[in-house]
Amino acid sequence: MWSAGLSLQSRCRHRKEFTLNPRRLSVNRQFMLLGALFDFNDMHTSFLKLIFITFLLIAAIVRPTWACADFYTKLPDVSKDLCLQAQLKPSGARSVQGRSILVRDITPPDVHRRVLVLAAMHGDEFSAASVALHWLQMANAAPVRTHWRFIPVLNPDGLLRQPAQRMNAHGVDLNRNFPTPNWQRETKIYWEKLTRRDPRRWPGRAPLSEPEAKYLFDEIGRFQPDVIVSIHAPYGVLDFDGPVMPPTRLGRLYLDQVGVFPGSLGNYSGVQRGVPVVTVELPSALRAPIASEMSKMWRDLLTWMDKTLPPDEISAAPTLARLPKSVQQR
Ligand SMILES: [Zn+2]
Repeated sequence: MWSAGLSLQSRCRHRKEFTLNPRRLSVNRQFMLLGALFDFNDMHTSFLKLIFITFLLIAAIVRPTWACADFYTKLPDVSKDLCLQAQLKPSGARSVQGRSILVRDITPPDVHRRVLVLAAMHGDEFSAASVALHWLQMANAAPVRTHWRFIPVLNPDGLLRQPAQRMNAHGVDLNRNFPTPNWQRETKIYWEKLTRRDPRRWPGRAPLSEPEAKYLFDEIGRFQPDVIVSIHAPYGVLDFDGPVMPPTRLGRLYLDQVGVFPGSLGNYSGVQRGVPVVTVELPSALRAPIASEMSKMWRDLLTWMDKTLPPDEISAAPTLARLPKSVQQR
């Protein structure tokens, strides 16, 4: 049988991992364990084998619920109910450590606009994921002719690490891992000269080297959003990249365009592709804004979208058509 080549030592290693924390096992490892189970000479009864197999299958099936339970306790102002009501589903993509990147679509019958909302690209920005889950609830209550796609935690490994970290499990700043012009040269200069080799801002070895960044890149290609909203913390401002008029404020956050960075999502999507990116920088990474502020930000976002990207005027044509010529020719 295919697992026969496993050494006793490696079997024990798998068994130990299973005993310690079954939730952390990837589906691949769970199937490896299935194979290993049949080789256990000390487990003769079919009944025990059946219990183990059933347990593993259940673990694979209900993992999204567990993932929700994993992270809701870390997020400020997020109850278990709010997280479960979000009905996040596995996107099919996984983080470096094998965690599902969860997603939720809200699709009303008369869709005239597609908006992608993502948060916790930086794993230590807990409040960003909180706001995404609260906004998801608001979108669900009133989708306003918009197809919403929410990715509340793009970097689950960074968020669930103890302590949480900005980067993914490879130590890469995902917001510097997107393919922008002269990536190798520009990110090298940026990281070595401007950040003085700050490990929190390491762009990685190559653009899209990280599964989380690659997933978002692919998702943008598949979903073709008219707007991307990327939630961060803790700088307390509103940033914007794109070929349309930016929002001047969302709630108490005022527009303050901080510049364009090599490898950033704003640069890749807003500048290169012409798909506007609204970057929300909440004032605290640990505390979520109060409920009335989250509602005000949401209403301001919808008002800006209605004014700038009215649903009736968005055609099926690629968003690139709205780009200035100079940008299209790059
Ligand atoms: Zn951030």
